[in-house]
Amino acid sequence: MAHYQGLIEKYRDRLPVDENTPVISLNEGNTPLIELKSLPRLVRKKVRIYAKFEGLNPTGSFKDRGMTMAVTKAVEGGAKAVICASTGNTSAAAAAYAARAGIACFVLIPEGKIALGKLSQAMMHGSVVIQIRGNFDDGMRLVQLAAESTSVALVNSINPYRPQGQKTVAFEVVESLGDAPDYHALPVGNAGNIGAHWAGYSEAACEQTRACAYCDGKCPFHHEKIATRRPIMLGYQAAGAAPIVRGRIVENPETVATAIRIGNPASWELAVNAQRESGGWFAECSDEEILHVQKLLARTEGVFCEPASAISLAGVLKDLEQGRIGEGTTIVCTLTGHGLKDPDTAIAQCVKPLTVDAELSEIEAVIREHLS
Ligand SMILES: *Cc1c(COP(=O)(O)O)cnc(C)c1O
Repeated sequence: MAHYQGLIEKYRDRLPVDENTPVISLNEGNTPLIELKSLPRLVRKKVRIYAKFEGLNPTGSFKDRGMTMAVTKAVEGGAKAVICASTGNTSAAAAAYAARAGIACFVLIPEGKIALGKLSQAMMHGSVVIQIRGNFDDGMRLVQLAAESTSVALVNSINPYRPQGQKTVAFEVVESLGDAPDYHALPVGNAGNIGAHWAGYSEAACEQTRACAYCDGKCPFHHEKIATRRPIMLGYQAAGAAPIVRGRIVENPETVATAIRIGNPASWELAVNAQRESGGWFAECSDEEILHVQKLLARTEGVFCEPASAISLAGVLKDLEQGRIGEGTTIVCTLTGHGLKDPDTAIAQCVKPLTVDAELSEIEAVIREHLS
């Protein structure tokens, strides 16, 4: 098989690029779809649950899928700099892809509310990090204005190329399973990803050759049907930041899952459209439930995702228990980001490491105590 060169090369005929497009890639995508073996037994349900582990993308989150497209198109359009507002992962991805492209990057983040790993990435890749005394929603408003008043390209998910890249996750799931699953669950923050998943599944199940918003009928999008159906989409929000679940803007969103700490999602309508068309639903989980499942997943399956990501599984386990999701079904949960992104939250949930003298007897004593 040819050397994997990222999702634009792989899905070139389904994306708005041509042979002259300067592809900016870090070989993102192609993430593992891991079947969870212990958890279905633990909750005593006969279901197949798969984790699509997007934390294994180059910068540790699914944001790389959209960013390879957004930065590629920005460079193609002649941009010398990109800008975004971020709860963390968008800035990490923008910083890395801008570095790869050799252009400048400005990121707006909420002061003190960004996970340590993400901040370190934005700084390390050389972006200009601007902390604002405000939240993500304030940042979002400001970057839109700044992109209009300056020549800097906006790479937030309202950039139309981001969802184009992100939709490829659905193609990969379909290729792995042979068809779409019964359910696909994911966290919902700014709400771009659920619509992108839905667009991907819709294209996978479509055999028409039709013009899209990008090609004016000149490129053969949707040319090959690779799925016979589409999944039911499930979107989960944190209880302190659940505007879509509750049907109103949340002024001061709060949750330990900082990646989805958003009170006024930019892609609200598209998200609701995906939910309605698929016959799915939105539901919320408490911070306690999120952290419990994050730890459970790490301990029973060996998969370490960040808090926001764990909500997809937390929601599914709750809906299984309540019978909203039936047995005999196949469920895919997108684990959007890696656990190492937020070491502080992880460490705060665990018992402190033991400290002992450097003696064999001390080590033996600990082993005996733990195995007894
Ligand atoms: C960005 C992000 C989300 C939310 O995705 P939206 O498209 O904004 O709904 C969820 N989890 C992680 C880890 C993220 O980085």
